[in-house]
This record gives sequence, C-alpha cells and structure tokens, in this order.
Amino acid sequence: MPEIKLDGQIYQYLIKSSKVRKTVEINVDKNSGLVIYAPSRFSQIELEDILTQKSSWIQDKLGKVEDVKPLPAPKKFVDDEKFLYLGKSYRLRIISDPNKVSDALKLYRGNFILNVDEIQNTSKLKDIFINWYLEKAKKYILKKVDFYSKVLSKQPSDVVFTDFKSKWGSCDPDGVIKYDWRIILAPKEIIDYIIAHELSHLISLTHDEKFWTTLAGIIPDFKEKEEWMRINSNILRVD
Ligand SMILES: [Zn+2]
Repeated sequence: MPEIKLDGQIYQYLIKSSKVRKTVEINVDKNSGLVIYAPSRFSQIELEDILTQKSSWIQDKLGKVEDVKPLPAPKKFVDDEKFLYLGKSYRLRIISDPNKVSDALKLYRGNFILNVDEIQNTSKLKDIFINWYLEKAKKYILKKVDFYSKVLSKQPSDVVFTDFKSKWGSCDPDGVIKYDWRIILAPKEIIDYIIAHELSHLISLTHDEKFWTTLAGIIPDFKEKEEWMRINSNILRVD
C-alpha cells in the first residue's frame, strides 16, 4: 500500500483507478481506510497532491473512525497494574507493612507503592489514589497557573479542582477557573496546554479570534495538544 505524510503523520492509502471514472473521490471508512477513486489518467503524484490539499478533512475523518483510544478496563488496584502520572506509566506494588511510617501511597523508584494493612475494598484503594493525585495536581497545577498568569498579566479570581464528566477545565465569567484533577495523569506539555487554555478565557470567554491568538501566544503548537487530547483523553482515568 502506498503511504503519504499529512501534517507529519504517515497514512496508508489505496488507489482505485478506472478508465470510466470522471472525477476524483476520496473515501474514509473503518474497514478500507483511506481510499482514493480516480480516473486512470491521474498519476500517483497528482493524487498525492489532492490528498495533501484535503489533509485536514482526511485526518478529521480518519481520526473519527479509528484512532481515538477506547476507555481502559476498570482498575482493580492489584500488583503490576499500571497507573499514569505526568504522562508516564508506573506499576503498582502492593505491600503490607504494619509498622508503616510513610504514606499509604507513594511513588518510589519507578513504582507506585501502596501500603495496605489489611485487605481493603477497591473503592477505598481508589480513594487513596484519588487523594494522592489530587494533592499532586494542586501543587503542580497551581504553580503552572501562577507562571502563565504572569505571562498573560491576568489572574484568575480562584482556582478550583473538581471532577468533571465531559471536560477538563472551565472558566466562569467571574474569573473562577476549574480543572479536573485527572489532568495530572497527562504529559506535562498537555497539562500546560489545558492550563493555558482556561487562562486564555480570562481574556475572552468564548472561542473567538482573540482567544485563539492569546492561546497561540503562550502555546504556539496548541493544535497538536488538542489532537493529543482528542485521541488520548479516555486514558486519563483512575476508575
Ligand atoms: Zn475553551
């Protein structure tokens, strides 16, 4: 199958040419992928030009059919299970130390160490994780908010950490910014993007020209970050 690079991403495609065809048509579907139907007088280079021109439409279509990561299996909080933090994956080690001096959960030498006195139910273990993430999120995100606020010369009236169902952040008209604590699971540059996105709403509440210019001023490649979120946001979960 021939391949084409569209905006840095390599795609395989199929050419179906025919002598009777009059027009070029591009099709994207789950089973056959990217297919270009063309009159046989078109060369491969000409067809690639057409694909390049239609790049954003194609990527949009392909993205919608295949590359969004599915929801992961529910966490069981058992040995060897992997958990994300700042975009990296760490294995869980469960220990039982009755004389525990340290926290119930810590990140130590590349592993999450969960110290349980007795067998605890999943929801309790989940709470331990959520509290750990929440604490880390507060510390990390507030520091970044402070940094980007200075860049923008705009301060939020408050920053709140919450549990959204279908978004990662919000900015109220009164300047209160809310972030879902789960963003602490994402890579640092993605967290920066989400932080900067909401802070840019202090300049403009809607996604207007002024908003995008502001955001691009802080995160020039914000479109790549949006794309990462489009594909990966399902994996940012602890339940
Ligand atoms: Zn927004």
